[in-house]
Amino acid sequence: MTTFADLNLDEKLLRALKTEGYTVPTPIQAQSIPPLMTGSDLLGIAQTGTGKTASFALPILQRLLRDPKPTPRRGCRALILSPTRELAGQIHESFRSYGRFAKLSSEVVYGGVPIGRQTRALLNGVDILVATPGRLLDLVNQRAVHLGDVEVLVLDEADHMLDLGFIVDIRKLVAMTSIKRQTMLFSATMPKDIAELASAFLRNPVRVEVTPVATTAERVEQQIIFVDTAHKQNLLHKLMDDPTIDRALVFTRTKHGADKVVKRLEEKGIRAAAIHGNKSQPQRERALADFKAGKLRLLIATDIAARGIDVDNVSHVINFDLPNMPESYVHRIGRTARAGATGIAISFCDREEHSFLRAIEKVTRQQIPVVESPLGPGLGMPPQPRVKGQPSPDKPRTTRSGRPVWQRNRPEKSRNDGSRTPSETAPGSRRDDPPRTKEARPYQGKPAQGARPPRHAAPEGRDMAREGKVQRNRGFGRS
Ligand code: AMP
Repeated sequence: MTTFADLNLDEKLLRALKTEGYTVPTPIQAQSIPPLMTGSDLLGIAQTGTGKTASFALPILQRLLRDPKPTPRRGCRALILSPTRELAGQIHESFRSYGRFAKLSSEVVYGGVPIGRQTRALLNGVDILVATPGRLLDLVNQRAVHLGDVEVLVLDEADHMLDLGFIVDIRKLVAMTSIKRQTMLFSATMPKDIAELASAFLRNPVRVEVTPVATTAERVEQQIIFVDTAHKQNLLHKLMDDPTIDRALVFTRTKHGADKVVKRLEEKGIRAAAIHGNKSQPQRERALADFKAGKLRLLIATDIAARGIDVDNVSHVINFDLPNMPESYVHRIGRTARAGATGIAISFCDREEHSFLRAIEKVTRQQIPVVESPLGPGLGMPPQPRVKGQPSPDKPRTTRSGRPVWQRNRPEKSRNDGSRTPSETAPGSRRDDPPRTKEARPYQGKPAQGARPPRHAAPEGRDMAREGKVQRNRGFGRS
């Protein structure tokens, strides 16, 4: 198996990847990074969630590290064009993470915020500039930035940029860059107009195509159990009667939640350990080693801590809480069914989490089969039909300030940075889904044969980029 260490990446990048908990490149990273490091152009057919950001960010950082130069005044060395400001913010954040040990500067510019700060930030030039096309063109027109020094150009989510009507802007911007540049174009789909753009902008590109992340979701047998939060712990205890659950990763939304689950399992005499950001490195390592060795049947984790967990033969993933980001759901359930094995993912869903479930089903383009709680009926509630003129019953319950109740104790993000509050970004808050009509089957440890056909055909990733993620607007700061 290829690891990042095999890719000849700079030590500073390897260190950053280690900090992120990544050891094994995703398929798009394994296929893209080597040709990009030799200077090839690339046509990548991949969606968000496949790891495509690192597949272009790492070779760009590597190139800038290997060939240090002063930043061009009012210019940049690497330019990444993104369709939305949310995606631009995420890309910028990824560059900041992977480049945390590299002394490189970066900036993100997009519309909807005052232009003056962006103009000032670009005055001395930056190594990496992430931009949405409209705002970048405005900055170019105001002579706040020029593109003559761009050595590497990335067009991310090209199909989405075309859908949003950026084609003319993009052509203008690309024409301002040097023809000697290295170019990468990523798109989730390859319609004729994208193929034409690719042939106009790319020279002998390497073509890399990866199957969308949703295929993980198709490999894993999934079940949903509607259960009120008050009964989730008992439900977990009850599931432990099922001998086929021999090695299960249990996900909670918070660190505190993970500790509480462990404590109550131990009170019942069930051995378990938690792994999350508040645990020391030795504690994490011990928990993981015991889990791998089969000494622990259950490992309770939060999303962040689980990123680096690479354990074979996880028979079940249990979502004690559903994640508010569909992308996290796909990552979580991908912890079972590794290396072609099959696995089962059981998700507990309280009333507050109906909207998360809808968002997950939309992204995975599957309706997750419902099974009856082994605790018996009446301890949970499926989504209710929506009554015209009434607020959606799927809408998360909110506090007086309008935040979802599960966010009650978290500090509110400032809105001045262009970000949206969690209540504005809660998946499903704008949805108007039909009621779930099918009766739940009894829990038998396996889901229904012949799961229902996909209900949604929405392209994955884009909605997440628009709805789910919050952008940040900070540079690396030259150090
Ligand atoms: P992207 O498709 O670039 O939006 O990435 C999807 C998610 O995968 C992000 O949360 C990344 O942080 C994460 N990710 C990217 N590369 C890896 C990797 N090699 N191992 C584990 N997670 C990764």
